[in-house]
Amino acid sequence: MTDQFNEECAVFGVFGSQEAHLLTALGLHALQHRGQEATGMVSFDGASFKHHRGTGHVGENFSAGSRTLNDLSGHVAIGHNRYSTTGLSEQRNIQPFLTEMAFGSFGIAHNGNLTNASRLRDSLVETGSLFQSTTDTEIFIHLVARSHQDNPLDRLAEALKQVTGAYALLCVMDDMLVGVRDPHGIRPLILGKVGDAYVLASETCALDIIGASYIRDIDAGEMVSISKDGIESRRIAPEEPSRFCIFEYIYFARPDSILEGRSVYQARKDIGAQLAAESPADADLIIPVPDSGVPAAIGFAQAANLPFELGIIRNHYVGRTFIQPTQEGRQSGVMLKHNANSEIIAGKNIVLVDDSIVRGTTSRKIVNMMRDAGANKVHMRIASPPTTNPCYYGVDTPDRDKLMAAQLGIDEMCAAIGADSLAFISIDGLYRAMGLTGRNHQQPEFCDACFTGDYPLANMADQFTQPRT
Ligand code: AMP
Repeated sequence: MTDQFNEECAVFGVFGSQEAHLLTALGLHALQHRGQEATGMVSFDGASFKHHRGTGHVGENFSAGSRTLNDLSGHVAIGHNRYSTTGLSEQRNIQPFLTEMAFGSFGIAHNGNLTNASRLRDSLVETGSLFQSTTDTEIFIHLVARSHQDNPLDRLAEALKQVTGAYALLCVMDDMLVGVRDPHGIRPLILGKVGDAYVLASETCALDIIGASYIRDIDAGEMVSISKDGIESRRIAPEEPSRFCIFEYIYFARPDSILEGRSVYQARKDIGAQLAAESPADADLIIPVPDSGVPAAIGFAQAANLPFELGIIRNHYVGRTFIQPTQEGRQSGVMLKHNANSEIIAGKNIVLVDDSIVRGTTSRKIVNMMRDAGANKVHMRIASPPTTNPCYYGVDTPDRDKLMAAQLGIDEMCAAIGADSLAFISIDGLYRAMGLTGRNHQQPEFCDACFTGDYPLANMADQFTQPRT
């Protein structure tokens, strides 16, 4: 059961503003792309903790002037956007969680995925813990509760020693905002400042919306605690080479974010340019699969010196294709989402650029749509290497048997999606687009396990032996 916890979420927190709740609502709104199923907030006003969790978008839960939002007023707040793949957006799984500990209230929000969740949960349950949710995030709570350390920060640090996996965590406790990044820094977490208040967020686009300035990324294996005395930093694990998730650059993060000092937009354009150099096509037009393929298509078009056209129009009132719990939902989602701009396409040889192929649902539909709109030749170019392995670190990817590239070779994939040609960027090309000389196989700079199967965390046995649904 615990291995269903595939979530790519957003976290956002503020310390030191009387409008912490309002800033958090705005920050969560900017991070809506990371999770659309549910949202929540925990705040503290110096006397009491407040809590709201609900399904749906941030705006549906925290609209300006609403009683729900006003009731969350305080000088500290943390928030979370959730996206689950279990289809069970149950209230009890919505974060942040708020619990009562021996030292007082404890709020927690988590983006990522623990790789030893099953084992930890089993042993906690066997020794008396009563779980109230089916998320791996709750494991942190039980570990903190059981710690015998004197102060809350030491308790959290002790709990973190027992978990493995990917996490960007925000906690509120003891009139403090705490942020932690896993020892490999797989998931993003950045620090900013607005006025006298500190901000922690998954991406920099959440700083922009509240007029906060960017200070730095939290380091891999770093824990920062922010209180009225300022900001303190400590290490939760010995320094290890960072392995930031390369898929954040390819797909997940918003293009206007800067992560680990790199513009997501520029990274995507550079990937597109590299793809054009590696796999050119004889075409009249470059067409992005909106929205995720747009920056890479711009980079491709510029490098290939070919016109860029919006040959597919996206309906923005449908959620991200992938953020639909069932395959049927995903399938109809693709149709609801895109339409061919036939005038542009009819009679043309086109290159379609998308960021990735996962199950192949999107590519199949889009290529079909282009043919129906009268395209002559349809060349598909993908701004990532073939996705051959599931992610166990917080990005939702299905099991290997549902990953098209794990089942089929490139020619077979091309036939399956009905394109005239299909090419993916090479793994070395991807690293070159990131400004490196290629992939350093001994010590890769990123986590690229979804493309290479090279998982940075050794103890994956839990995950591979457990059934996933
Ligand atoms: P599919 O239709 O299953 O091949 O999924 C590919 C589409 O989903 C691409 O157009 C991407 O924009 C998007 N996508 C790829 N990977 C993910 C992911 N892990 N989470 C959400 N969306 C994704």
